[in-house]
Amino acid sequence: MSAAASGAGRIVVVGSLNADLTIYCDRLPQPGETVQGNGFAVNPGGKSANQAVAAARLGGHVSLVGAVGEDPNGAMLEASVAGVGVDVGHVRTSAEPTGVAVIAVDARGENNIIISAGANGTLSPKDVADAADVLEGAAVVSLCLEVSMDTVLAAAQAGHDAGAQVLLNLSPYAEIPSALAGLADILLVNSHEAALFLGSSVPGAGAAASEWDAVRSRFGGHGVQQVLVTLGANGSVVLDSLAPAGSRVAFVQPTQVHAVDTTGAGDAFTGAVAVRLAAGDGLADAAAFASVAAALATTRKGTQAAYPEAADVERRLRTS
Ligand code: AMP
Repeated sequence: MSAAASGAGRIVVVGSLNADLTIYCDRLPQPGETVQGNGFAVNPGGKSANQAVAAARLGGHVSLVGAVGEDPNGAMLEASVAGVGVDVGHVRTSAEPTGVAVIAVDARGENNIIISAGANGTLSPKDVADAADVLEGAAVVSLCLEVSMDTVLAAAQAGHDAGAQVLLNLSPYAEIPSALAGLADILLVNSHEAALFLGSSVPGAGAAASEWDAVRSRFGGHGVQQVLVTLGANGSVVLDSLAPAGSRVAFVQPTQVHAVDTTGAGDAFTGAVAVRLAAGDGLADAAAFASVAAALATTRKGTQAAYPEAADVERRLRTS
């Protein structure tokens, strides 16, 4: 049964929508150099819009709070999220242009990305206050760092006050105020972001549980009790200081797939975690489900259009 069909709680995603303008080329240009591209695509993106679409495709009840410009990119982005059933009643228009990510991808899949926040930069604590109707009933509030820190902080506070679980994806990495760390029920980071947050490196895949337990304690020292560390093709690690002793570190094995495009895999993972938390799962079960969802998302090109549906994930879970 999908999360929506089972009457799971509402997920509110507060944050960014970007048009991804991608040029494919053999190699990335050096400063001052022009190279010939061999393909161009405009796709819906932005971490928060991606999270919202991933969650909705997996059956979540999702509302998105964001801002777009009054331009064709804004209309394209709104249509993409609304098209999978995301409530866009709190996606407003702005005099600023829609946010864009200008992306170059070379033949090896390496990329360079420049983001112009545009309308995303206008999303403010007032927008969070204006979305009180959806935030008040939320089970999960899902956040990333592509909008202003004040806005993220206001959304985390509103989610906390509403009794929702606040899920914070620390991406793109920025230092966060300690108040925000304290409001985040669950921090979702890749190993690079984890190291930046803690100020020193974290163990690699295959490290012993005791090493990860030390990492768990260090997050606890920053007021963060539950952490999901994603390790790309090596799976993920659940660090849960609220779990009984002996089960505070759990490894989620990677799902073996033939990955063709890992863009947006982290957003798929976040959206999938949100869906399972809203349906009442614990953190380790949510991470196991998200691991499959994010792996399946890498088997197709693109981001939002590549995200799987709940039935795809459940089929893979049954056969693995
Ligand atoms: P990352 O942000 O790169 O850590 O990826 C987020 C999540 O996407 C990982 O925890 C995996 O669940 C999934 N993922 C990313 N890349 C791959 C891959 N090559 N194979 C399988 N799963 C992947």
